[in-house]
Amino acid sequence: MGADLVIVHLYPDLLRTYGDRGNVLALQRRAEWRGFRVDVVAVSRGERVPRGAGVVLLGGGTDRVQEALGPDLRDRGPELAEAVGEGTVVLGVCGGYQFLGNLYVSADGVSTEGLGLIEAETRAGKGRLVGRVGATAELWGNRFDLVGFENHGGRTTLGPGARPLARVRMGGGNNGLDGSEGAVRGSVVGTYLHGPVFPLNPQFADGILKRALSPVTGGDDLQSLDDGPEERAHEHARTLHR
Ligand code: GLN
Repeated sequence: MGADLVIVHLYPDLLRTYGDRGNVLALQRRAEWRGFRVDVVAVSRGERVPRGAGVVLLGGGTDRVQEALGPDLRDRGPELAEAVGEGTVVLGVCGGYQFLGNLYVSADGVSTEGLGLIEAETRAGKGRLVGRVGATAELWGNRFDLVGFENHGGRTTLGPGARPLARVRMGGGNNGLDGSEGAVRGSVVGTYLHGPVFPLNPQFADGILKRALSPVTGGDDLQSLDDGPEERAHEHARTLHR
């Protein structure tokens, strides 16, 4: 029997700073706890993203790794655009988020063409934005509190076709200037929050899962889980300062 949900972890061998694999595990477990069958597929350079994936996750990476991925990304754009057209949810974190946009210019001045899934550009700025982030997110009609950790030199500017995922009350977010954090365009979502982000933010995880599972659930709400430990971890993170 096929899986209800295929989670594609894109470049798990390269984009993996700050425990981004924890995002894959959190989505997998939260779907399995509700009785869904989940397959996790690792896709790296030169490999294809399987058709029918519910969600594709890209983690963070150093500038050096991002430069090395440049050639592979050029072929990846059309494949992912097609998946998004078929309803696949794509989530990029930090370096992976920068890649969802049109362009990334590193601190060394090297330009890497992005996947073009979100109208955004990122250029390295002076110094890095490092520390805890607290924000209020709005994703597909749901508002929730978002906490995590950021560490990036890139400053992201959104174009009119993308809207921020969240507004920060603490931390730098997209560029340290306009209070925006992350981006959303249709089923494509980007965030600077590492941590990994999903274990601390079950509402964010479930928003992504609900949409990724909609081909099997018809878009129904997901059964609620006992999120006591996750909520305590979230509340604790809220009390910490940069
Ligand atoms: N290299 C990117 C930057 O510093 C992304 C870093 C990351 O993924 N943590 O902006």
